[in-house]
Amino acid sequence: MKIAKALLVFVVILTILFSVAGCLQKGQVSPVEDDDGRIRIYTTFYPLYDFTKKIVGESAQVENLIPAGVEPHDFELSPKQAADIHDADIFIYLGESMEPWAAKMAENLESQGIKVIEAGKGLIENDDPHIWLDPVLAAEMAKSIFNGIVSTDKENEAIYRENLKNLTKKLEELDNAFKELASGSERKDLVTSHAFFDYPARRYGLNQVAITGLSPQEEPSLQKMRELVEFCQGNGIKYIFTVPGENSKLIDVLSRDTGAEVLEINPLESLKQEEIQAGEDYFSVMEKNIEALKKALGY
Ligand SMILES: [Zn+2]
Repeated sequence: MKIAKALLVFVVILTILFSVAGCLQKGQVSPVEDDDGRIRIYTTFYPLYDFTKKIVGESAQVENLIPAGVEPHDFELSPKQAADIHDADIFIYLGESMEPWAAKMAENLESQGIKVIEAGKGLIENDDPHIWLDPVLAAEMAKSIFNGIVSTDKENEAIYRENLKNLTKKLEELDNAFKELASGSERKDLVTSHAFFDYPARRYGLNQVAITGLSPQEEPSLQKMRELVEFCQGNGIKYIFTVPGENSKLIDVLSRDTGAEVLEINPLESLKQEEIQAGEDYFSVMEKNIEALKKALGY
């Protein structure tokens, strides 16, 4: 009898505890920021995040899904992140060639009333996602991000339009810097690790020679490596490019076999947390890239 009573009390206490915990949990589902009236935007990887931030300023919340310092090719979303996206107002990705997982989610998100912006739509050719490295295509990308956002958030259209104008102007200046670089350089060959530089190379008349294909995870054949060594030796290549954070074993081999010096170029696929905190952005990194390119192209 006594035991049964004790058990009953225990069950009652447990029930109360659980319902309190349940209430707390329910209350925590929507973070406080949700109530500040701003729309919530999720982007997949860095250039989309940076451009979106530059367009919306403080008038909307922007969160990047792929963590700082993580390489976005072949990235897999965690189940928690996949669930998080559902409280977004807008979801921005580049295209199937960069984030196949996002392309798969798009229809489902749209059916739940989330505005999905495919920022590289109509701009990506030959399944090569790296359009943001070409300032002219990057400006088109920014415009399509802007158009998508204002179709959901009309209230702030004037602010966003002004910010887009500034962003476009800076991209035009970058375009001019590339033109200057290419027209003044003796050399045209750029040896890179993965093939991220095809769009700017084509626009400004440079010749990209890449060790691997569009994704850094690919492995080149021995034959390909031999051809690259011959190319570097035959064309007097003094500098070859690696990407920060990339496993540069292949670049090291090429450098050893040809005597070429290794320089870094940042394809802006991901910035490290400390770089973001130090105030680095698309434009500051592109400026450094241009300096490295100047060196390699024979200034
Ligand atoms: Zn890439």
